[in-house]
Amino acid sequence: MDFETRAIHAGQEPDPATGAIITPIYQTSTYVQEAVGVNKGYDYARVGNPTRTALQVALASLENAAHGVAFSSGLGATTTLMHLINPGERVVLIADVYGGVYRMTSQVYEPKGYKFTYVPASEFHDNLASYLDDDVKMVWIETPSNPMLNIVDIRRAADAAHAVGAMVVVDNTFATPYLQQPLDLGADAVVHSTTKYLGGHSDTIGGFVATNDDALAERLYFLQKSLGAVPGPFDAWLVLRGIKTLAVRMRQHCENARRVAEFLDGHPGVERVFYPGLPNHPGHDIARAQMRDFGGMVSFLMDSEQEAVELVARTQIFQLAESLGGVESLIEHPARMTHASTAGAPFAPPGNLVRLSVGIESAEDLLADLEAALVRRSTPARA
Ligand SMILES: *Cc1c(COP(=O)(O)O)cnc(C)c1O
Repeated sequence: MDFETRAIHAGQEPDPATGAIITPIYQTSTYVQEAVGVNKGYDYARVGNPTRTALQVALASLENAAHGVAFSSGLGATTTLMHLINPGERVVLIADVYGGVYRMTSQVYEPKGYKFTYVPASEFHDNLASYLDDDVKMVWIETPSNPMLNIVDIRRAADAAHAVGAMVVVDNTFATPYLQQPLDLGADAVVHSTTKYLGGHSDTIGGFVATNDDALAERLYFLQKSLGAVPGPFDAWLVLRGIKTLAVRMRQHCENARRVAEFLDGHPGVERVFYPGLPNHPGHDIARAQMRDFGGMVSFLMDSEQEAVELVARTQIFQLAESLGGVESLIEHPARMTHASTAGAPFAPPGNLVRLSVGIESAEDLLADLEAALVRRSTPARA
């Protein structure tokens, strides 16, 4: 079955008890057992819940994965994956990794003796092998990355990592499985913040991991119940509802983002635009080869930090907020907001960077909003 059909039906058969077409929210903590050890497949809701199971089956299907494991948040999924690593072992990450992942690795795990190397996206393509040795157990990729929209060739990185026996994790939050399927390109696991495009409506927090490796999946299910970063049934249900419209939403996100990127690229008030769909983007060809389309995120440089900070407060439809991937357009200043925890690091985002999560409103309205905010930039301040 095609992606759009699986998004609506995989794991989501009508409820066997009532025929309800929509998977019920099984709001329960425990399950009555017929006799000791005799149950219907569920015994305690941290270990398993039918709403969560439906989500896990559906999302795994979208990533072309045999196994899916849902978590309470993207970082809940990330910290669970970090429990595959032991102190003394090394993880190589793309340098402009999500700010919250960097905060976790640098301030939680590094003090415990875990080792991390942050490799710039530009080095991934030709020089990744020079950062890898037998101590490296995991390579962590984001592509497109946040907030610089750098592109990594997943298959090439996976080949280099596998040559030293390291597993490859791809954070697929920005692309979603509609645009990119990392397991098919050689990744061992895919991680998501379902808070973003998969939920799609800015109304829940969640995370997810998919894999085709049976042993890895078994370990992740064990860690899911043992570490306990599980989503509640209502949160699982919101993501399950969100993914039913993922394909149509992503098409509109991509179309609107392309319009916004082209508009900004030609605007005299904008210094530089980062969007993998622009032919001048250094990762354009790789993105074209490994993605179906280029996504809904656009970043750009203003002339100065002051101008960037002022601009993000001036738009009317683009709301000033962290997060991304919802139907509504958002604007933010990474250096002081989402990526403040990378301040001082060599890969901290530039102070004049602005990041957009382009929503699915009318593209005309979005362009008019940006135009008005950019024009006022050149208006002299009133006395
Ligand atoms: C938001 C985000 C995360 C963290 O997810 P939460 O659900 O906020 O915990 C991880 N990676 C990327 C790329 C994100 O955008």
